[in-house]
Amino acid sequence: MTELSVTELSLSGRASRGLADPAAAVAAARDGDARALARLISLVENGSPQLRAVMKAIAPLTGRAHVIGLTGSPGVGKSTVTGALIRAYRGRERGLRVGVLAVDPTSPFSGGALLGDRVRMQEHATDDGVFIRSMASRGQLGGLSWTAPQAIRIMDAAGFDVILVETVGVGQAEVKIASLADSTLVIVAPGMGDSIQAAKAGILEIADIFAVNKSDRPGAQEAVRDLRTMLAMARYGESDWKPPIVSVSAAAGEGIDDLAARLDAHWSWLAESGELDRRRRAMAREEISAIAVTELRRRLGALPGESRLDDLARRVAGGEIDPYAAADDLIGG
Ligand code: GDP
Repeated sequence: MTELSVTELSLSGRASRGLADPAAAVAAARDGDARALARLISLVENGSPQLRAVMKAIAPLTGRAHVIGLTGSPGVGKSTVTGALIRAYRGRERGLRVGVLAVDPTSPFSGGALLGDRVRMQEHATDDGVFIRSMASRGQLGGLSWTAPQAIRIMDAAGFDVILVETVGVGQAEVKIASLADSTLVIVAPGMGDSIQAAKAGILEIADIFAVNKSDRPGAQEAVRDLRTMLAMARYGESDWKPPIVSVSAAAGEGIDDLAARLDAHWSWLAESGELDRRRRAMAREEISAIAVTELRRRLGALPGESRLDDLARRVAGGEIDPYAAADDLIGG
C-alpha cells in the first residue's frame, strides 16, 4: 500500500491535474495568488494524490479563520446574504480577506459555474481580497465530510480571515453544515413557512444566529415572532450562547452590519468559552473518521464497485451466506 492510496481512490474517473510544486502553490496562495489557490482546491475535488503533501505542509498554518456556515431553504436569500456579508467584511477598516465556499452536497457533479453565474457575486470578481469557489461532493467516499473540510483548511492556510460556507442543498445537508463551521447562520424568509420547517429539520438546534431575510416583505415580523416563540421554549444555561435573531434585507443591505457584529460576538464567545476548541475537535474527529473509514474500506476491498464486495453481496443476496459471515469474510480475508 502506498501512502497516497486514499486520495487516489476518490478520483471518481476524473483526471487529476497535478501541481508541479505543491509547496510553492501553498506559498503563492498565501501571497494572494487566486489561481494557485484554485488549483489547490481542485486537488481536493479531484482527490489528487498530492493532497497528502499539501495537507501536511499547511497543517501548521491552519486554525485562524472564522468559518461561518450559511444555511436555509432555497430562495431564502443565502447567496444574497453571502454577497452582503462579503461587502460588509470588505468594507471594514481592517479589510478582512473573505473566502466563500459553496457546497452542493446533493450533486455528484462539480458546481464550478454555479456561483460564478450569480450576478450579485460578480462585483467581487475583481477584488483579490475575495475568493469564491463552488464545490460538489463525491457522495460515495464520504462526500461533504471528506472534501469540504479540506477545502476550508486550504483557504484558512491561504490566510483568509473569514470563510463563508454556503450550502446549496436542503434537508440533512443543512444540518451537516453545522459540523463544518465555527458559527452557523440559519437564514429564513417570510411567507415560506420556513421557521416551522426549520424546527422540523432540527435546524433550531444547529443555529448560532438566525437571520430573518427579506425584512422588506410582509410577514417578516411574524417570522421573527415565530422564531422567538420557539427559542423561548429552549432551555439555556447561564453561560450558554443564546442565538440572536437578526432582521435583514440582504438585497437592500439593511441589517447586515448588525448581522456581522453578531457573528463577531459569537466568534469572541467561542474563543472565551472554550467552545471553539470543543467544536474544532469534533470537526477533526469527523474528518479523521471519514479518511480512516474510507482507507479501511479500501484495504478490505469494500468500496462500492469493488469485485470483492460485489462478490459477497451477490452471495448474500442469493441466500448463500448471511451478511455477518460475509462481513467476517471481508475483515478476516
Ligand atoms: P438562495 O437560493 O437562498 O441562495 O437565495 P437567493 O440569494 O438566490 O435569493 C432568492 C431570491 O430572493 C432572489 O430573487 C433575490 O433577489 C431575492 N432576495 C434576496 N434577498 C432579498 C431581500 O432582502 N428582499 C427581497 N425582497 N428579496 C430578496
